[in-house]
Amino acid sequence: MRGSMKMADYHGMWKELNIDLKTHDLLCDALPPLYEGIYLDQGNRPETMDYFNMVVAEVHGARIKELMDFKAKGNKVVGAFCIYVPEELVLAAGSQLVGLCAGSEFWVPPGEKVLPRNTCPLVKAGVGARISRTCPYFQSVDLIVGENTCDGKKKAWEILAEEAPMYVMDIPNVKSRSGMALWKSEVKSLSEKLEKLTGKTITSSNLKEAIEKVNAKRIALQKLNDLRKGDVVPISGKDALLVSEIAFYDDVDRFVEKVQVLTDECVERVQKGETPFNPGAKRIMVTGSPLVLPNWKLHHLVESTGNPVVVEENCTGTRYYEQTVDGSPSDLGGLMDNLASRYIENIHCACFTPNDGRLDDIVRLAKEYRVDGIIDYSLSFCTTYLTEGTKVRDRLKQEGIPVLSLETGYESGDEGQLKTRIEAFIETLE
Ligand code: SF4
Ligand code: SF4
Repeated sequence: MRGSMKMADYHGMWKELNIDLKTHDLLCDALPPLYEGIYLDQGNRPETMDYFNMVVAEVHGARIKELMDFKAKGNKVVGAFCIYVPEELVLAAGSQLVGLCAGSEFWVPPGEKVLPRNTCPLVKAGVGARISRTCPYFQSVDLIVGENTCDGKKKAWEILAEEAPMYVMDIPNVKSRSGMALWKSEVKSLSEKLEKLTGKTITSSNLKEAIEKVNAKRIALQKLNDLRKGDVVPISGKDALLVSEIAFYDDVDRFVEKVQVLTDECVERVQKGETPFNPGAKRIMVTGSPLVLPNWKLHHLVESTGNPVVVEENCTGTRYYEQTVDGSPSDLGGLMDNLASRYIENIHCACFTPNDGRLDDIVRLAKEYRVDGIIDYSLSFCTTYLTEGTKVRDRLKQEGIPVLSLETGYESGDEGQLKTRIEAFIETLE
């Protein structure tokens, strides 16, 4: 299946957003060939991935136009970098949330103008996207919610605050009683900040509605990803990753509907035995740093060996969609408590100490998805995930699960060497 990557002309809108048009055109020219080579050239894809092809083609066009129309009605758009920022609160306050994590090498050099080179590429690209004025999401947000998870981020936000309206959440490093108390008060403070921004009060009724909406998104992703547990893997890891990445940008209701359509097609594909992979292919799990749009490098390298990535234990994978919020309380306090608990108890980020919950999750998921081997992936200079790699390797050794640790950024220069290491690893899997 091949689709069109041609975007309509949005130069007028980008000009209004104060985009650096000349440099942005270079980015717009670079994405289609990258996407075609990695995505459209795949064999035996689900037909209904067409919608997600369109979202990528129009990621700086139609979706931004929708957000601008939304803003024109007096509404606000909020950007965030971390899955600890509760989307439910943003929706309850009548605004929309968009992901600002940047996964392109294109934005790394402008980021390096103000950040040390040995900062992770996700942070450099995020800051670079804003200061180069080449990301319409950064240009259209009314508020950016950052967090003090890792050192790179917490210092970068001070620099970004000189360029854009920033608000930083204080995320605890420890899941203790005092950590929980801090987190709850931070969730409350964010809700007050959002109320001030939008002029809309967060009530039990609009929060309940927002919880249902975001739960529906997570459940849709759970159902799709559950199909990757079976012998017939109906969708490539690259496509499943893309769907999760798009969850951070798309309109929630439309996204849920499109994921359900894709899931229905994948159910049929399983029944008919349709898969992009040959029998006997090795099932790979990816764990570690987030893989944000358009960072498809690792999945592409793995799947170009003919073996599927069947699950991602990361923030663009299971950590994002596995747990929902209990929206049963009728009072605001009960809903806020459940919201806060869902985030702190279930997201096991390497920024926390200790972080044994992640190790347990990796082992559990390896069994559920029946993986043959695990790639523990760290973005370059991501101290937290790189350091946690020792504990990941030790635990997997105890469990008898093979693991390969890789550290890389967004650049393409090391792809040949990485592919050789991945192939050698897969050859050792029984
Ligand atoms: S890895 Fe940690 S800091 Fe990064 S998005 Fe996930 S929870 Fe947030
Ligand atoms: S990938 Fe690592 S260094 Fe980069 S923002 Fe996330 S936690 Fe921080």
